[in-house]
Amino acid sequence: MTSVSIHDTGALFQIAEPTDQRRAQRRPGRGIGIDLGTTNSLVALAPHGAAPRVLRDSSGSGLVPSVVAYTTDPPLVGRAAQALQAEHPGQVISSVKRLMGRGLSDIHFAHPYHLSEETPGLLRIDIGSPPGSQVGSPPGSSGEAQSRRVTPTEVSAAILRELKLRAEAELGEPCDGAVITVPAYFDEAQRQATRDAGRIAGLQVYRLLAEPTAAALAYGLDRGGEGLFAVYDLGGGTFDISILRLHKGVFQVLATGGDSALGGDDFDRALAAHLLQRSGVGEPSRFQLDAARIAARAAKERLTGETATRVALPGLSELEVTRGEFEALIEPLAQRTLRACRQALKDAGLRAPELDGVVLVGGSTRVPKIRELVAETFKRPPLADIDPDEVVAWGAAIQADILSGSAREGVTLLDVVPLSLGLETMGGIVEKIIPRNATIPIAARQVFTNYAEHQTGMVIHVVQGERELARDCRSLARFDLKGIPRLPPSMARVEVTFQLDADALLTVSARELMTGVRQSVEVKPTYGLSEAEVDRLVMESLDHAGDDYARRNAAEARVELGRVVLALRTAVTEVGHLRELLPEDERARLEAALAAADAAMADPDAVADPLNRARTALEKVSEPFARRRMERALNAGMAGKSLHDIERALADEDALQEKRAGHTPELLDPEEP
Ligand code: ADP
Ligand code: MG
Repeated sequence: MTSVSIHDTGALFQIAEPTDQRRAQRRPGRGIGIDLGTTNSLVALAPHGAAPRVLRDSSGSGLVPSVVAYTTDPPLVGRAAQALQAEHPGQVISSVKRLMGRGLSDIHFAHPYHLSEETPGLLRIDIGSPPGSQVGSPPGSSGEAQSRRVTPTEVSAAILRELKLRAEAELGEPCDGAVITVPAYFDEAQRQATRDAGRIAGLQVYRLLAEPTAAALAYGLDRGGEGLFAVYDLGGGTFDISILRLHKGVFQVLATGGDSALGGDDFDRALAAHLLQRSGVGEPSRFQLDAARIAARAAKERLTGETATRVALPGLSELEVTRGEFEALIEPLAQRTLRACRQALKDAGLRAPELDGVVLVGGSTRVPKIRELVAETFKRPPLADIDPDEVVAWGAAIQADILSGSAREGVTLLDVVPLSLGLETMGGIVEKIIPRNATIPIAARQVFTNYAEHQTGMVIHVVQGERELARDCRSLARFDLKGIPRLPPSMARVEVTFQLDADALLTVSARELMTGVRQSVEVKPTYGLSEAEVDRLVMESLDHAGDDYARRNAAEARVELGRVVLALRTAVTEVGHLRELLPEDERARLEAALAAADAAMADPDAVADPLNRARTALEKVSEPFARRRMERALNAGMAGKSLHDIERALADEDALQEKRAGHTPELLDPEEP
């Protein structure tokens, strides 16, 4: 078989990027960065060149557990969903990232779900009876039977929607678009599933960004324009090592490696087993195991800051564990990650001293021993100033800010093809047409020929991956080119063109050069969610957009009401004893309005209306009080001071007046009997 290969990149770079037009309508400063993680997800903002900031909930946590509970409609996401997991294992979905863009044949790990595959390559998760089937559905709306199955894409969309809401509550207006991070090794099907999830969540996905690249951006490693970096990511359940090369402003992934079943959870298990053994528990019960694992996790995290800690297991006497003991336990696990690091360096054709930096990502890289071993392996102290939980979201936020149109320093990264794209040829062998790490947009052509004389058709089977055999790669599309003239073997000439546009949409066309017979397809990675279905889900989410805005308005109303309540409580406490400022009856009405506000806020699901009404009522009742305080302040010649100062002074002044009016307490006369 002969084949001619023409990689013509230059010409097609001239094609106008569709994103250019869209960018003109972008709203600078409203791009959000999302780390869509297996265990936890985060959203961060870095508007107009500001330093990245992860958005937190009221308890101060930036981590949203990647858990969705289909026990209500719309589903619950995050900590609330996690709380329901033990009770409703089939309806509460976690670690859905492992299912994205996968088919049944790809799933080789244990999971608690009922999975099916109605369309090849697309999983559906059975979530039991639809929520609200007995209660809560408005009359007349139940005509359309609700699906009892959700795709992983929809589950991810629910998480993304939650993060989007968090960002919009912060921005006070709709966000413009998002950069979502994905593992460097995600193929087109997994990426397409992630992009679709973003669309369903109502997000304009500016771009998907490789997680290690995001981490490198967070450290500003792009500044120099060139460099070699390793990103060591050890989370709860997974370990990833990536070797990156920054070359002419493009981050290329030179090698990836890792273990999809190795992480901090394994540290917990090792320590738990050790604790039980030291306590003399031979065959622990389910309960003892769970309790030991929870205690071990907490002890492990304490041992990051302390050299020894005490652990109490239920019903057993307290033990002391030292950091040294823990380090010995995790040593074999740590060594496994280091072996993967050395392999990745080897795959990249590099030695450790050639690197320019090593970045730590993931909660488990807080363990001092891990840092030490990483430093030893890479022969340099790793970069760890940015919280390893947040570093990926930081990088995503920076890139999102750039893509929203903010004038900020930093590179606009070019997208690269994460894994090679090619065609299956005779013998099941893959001929690569677009190589891994090629920048997008790109087009490449290659000429193929016939194998046998009777051949009047050719199978165009598009695959993605680095392996040599098509069956080891991911199948993206397959079509036939028919009507080829009968020619002796190796005489037909079929030119196949792969064109990947700026949105990573692949078009494959084949043309028989003698007859001009041609065939062309747009390759949507066949993870199975059809364009029509995505459109339907987008429409549904637009229907829900009303809910989303309602929730955001409610969040805002809550904040406003909280502010007014706090200000009034403070004022009442500080000047409350001044009867002329706050007469008894007025005070009673004010207290009643404050109590009503508390009641409104006590309902966690309260919509904006009652919260706003409570605020208006409060403002009305307290208006005379506010006016009087203002007048007093002005009369006292205190204008220009802060309200707090004024009130302080008012209180002091009041004490003086009481004295002048003869209210000074009297002393007893010793002469008096
Ligand atoms: P994932 O990448 O799976 O989403 P994370 O990056 O959030 O996970 O990491 C979670 C892991 O980090 C858990 O195993 C947790 O126990 C561990 N971890 C968090 N804080 C510490 C700490 N202070 N010391 C040691 N391990 C920690
Ligand atoms: Mg992570």
